[in-house]
Amino acid sequence: MDQRQQLLQEIFGYPQFRPGQEPLIDSLLSGRDAVGIMPTGAGKSICYQLPALLLPGITVVVSPLISLMKDQVSALVQAGVRAAYINSSLTESQCRKAMENARGGMYKIIYVAPERLLTPGFLALGQFQAINMVCVDEAHCVSQWGQDFRPSYLDIPKYLDTLPARPVVGAFTATATEEVRGDIVELLGLREPEILVTGFDRPNLYFEVQAPGDKYAALKEYLFSHPDRSGIVYCLTRKTVEEVTARLCADGFAAARYHAGLDPAERRDNQDDFLYDRARIMVATNAFGMGIDKSNVSFVIHYNMPKNIESYYQEAGRAGRDGEAADCILLYSGRDVITNQFLIDHGEGKAELTEEQQLQLREKDKARLRQMTFYATTRGCLREFILKYFGERPASYCGNCSGCLSNFEEVDATAAAVLALGAVQASRRRYGVKTWVDALRGSKNEKTRRFGLTETTEYGALAEWSETRVRELFSLLLSDGLLYQTEEEYAVLALTPEGAAFLAEPSSLIMKCVRPRAAAPRSAPLR
Ligand code: ADP
Ligand code: ZN
Repeated sequence: MDQRQQLLQEIFGYPQFRPGQEPLIDSLLSGRDAVGIMPTGAGKSICYQLPALLLPGITVVVSPLISLMKDQVSALVQAGVRAAYINSSLTESQCRKAMENARGGMYKIIYVAPERLLTPGFLALGQFQAINMVCVDEAHCVSQWGQDFRPSYLDIPKYLDTLPARPVVGAFTATATEEVRGDIVELLGLREPEILVTGFDRPNLYFEVQAPGDKYAALKEYLFSHPDRSGIVYCLTRKTVEEVTARLCADGFAAARYHAGLDPAERRDNQDDFLYDRARIMVATNAFGMGIDKSNVSFVIHYNMPKNIESYYQEAGRAGRDGEAADCILLYSGRDVITNQFLIDHGEGKAELTEEQQLQLREKDKARLRQMTFYATTRGCLREFILKYFGERPASYCGNCSGCLSNFEEVDATAAAVLALGAVQASRRRYGVKTWVDALRGSKNEKTRRFGLTETTEYGALAEWSETRVRELFSLLLSDGLLYQTEEEYAVLALTPEGAAFLAEPSSLIMKCVRPRAAAPRSAPLR
């Protein structure tokens, strides 16, 4: 048995590695920087604790969470590993003592709060003892774009520079967007790191998107047909929480409400009602759920589309913690996009950012919102969409989502795409999706007339298509990156370079459309 395997069993008590742990450990042991991106609970800590035991010198672990440091250090000490932490929970004399011990080579692993890195005492340690590895927990805190930016994380590369020999550096996070990942590599000064993204899939979750004309009716239908299930209904605003709760209660459902506008006592009571199964339905804003560990949540229905995939997956992921089959259903409408756009434009800025940075942040929020909208309108596998977003390379068919299981027909949309793209190109970015849909379908409304679109060759060219289908065409052109929406006051459509290339040399474009009124299987056969 090799040493890693032996340590895993003897010190940590696990028979085998989980996916992703081994490659990260090997990378760090071989002296190559590494970034581990795994969801919470996947087992990141072993990825640095285990190599720390095999490397000759000391490992420094930077962590922002005092309680987590305490837990991990006491678990290590119990397992016989010499470990300590340095943070603001220690008194000055405790801190001095710990630093003395550290200088004397007493510890193998030292957890430290980022604010402590550049203090004289801690800097001195690096001159007395060989620091072979520095690992950064919650590494996304280095990025200004995340929710949890910690300016002191920018001290980490400065600290590395003070060490006589550069240690190998590992960075770990559960936040996986491309941007944050880029920031981690760049701002921490990682050197050609091994980047490993793993374990975001939750196979027991069934994903579905509906775009019902009447959301409340769709919600009610689900609740009626699953009378023994308990779950969460997420709404975007407090007002919607109030409305939906009132209607559900009036219709005889045991529903409780939760949002930040309620007084703490009611919030606690309602939460308890839900946790102890007195209320089977919790209607809530995203204020509900952090740190709530109810295992038998068997559905999460989003009454409104959230602002990005990260939020969606986090909230939907509260279903099925017990490993049983659970449903994650998004009730989508175009209105949700507008509400979210409003919230981005009028939301509170972050005090520590400059005007310019606020603006950039809004742009990024809008880009994330667009991805969320693509999820809501894709005809492909929903699980594939999510996992790709988190950087994994999933199969394009999961068999457990509405994308995979719905009754679609495939329509050759090549000619229609050429027509639509040609029209957009000729117009030189003037109109939004709605106007183009009207023009191509030949609607004689005030706008098409006023804009002179009734006189163009493409006017009415898709008259035999339903409005839904023409909208779907534009959704596809947007999500395939042939068109994009400009970020002006009124979003208008414009061609991307890929769109122009497609026009110059069209390739076959197949569109998956919902078969009109055919009996799509409501409850999926594979569930
Ligand atoms: P993260 O930091 O990614 O949120 P942790 O490192 O706290 O996750 O690990 C989550 C849980 O998984 C812990 O209870 C840990 O003991 C357990 N764990 C980690 N690795 C393994 C493994 N190889 N086999 C079994 N359990 C593991
Ligand atoms: Zn699927």
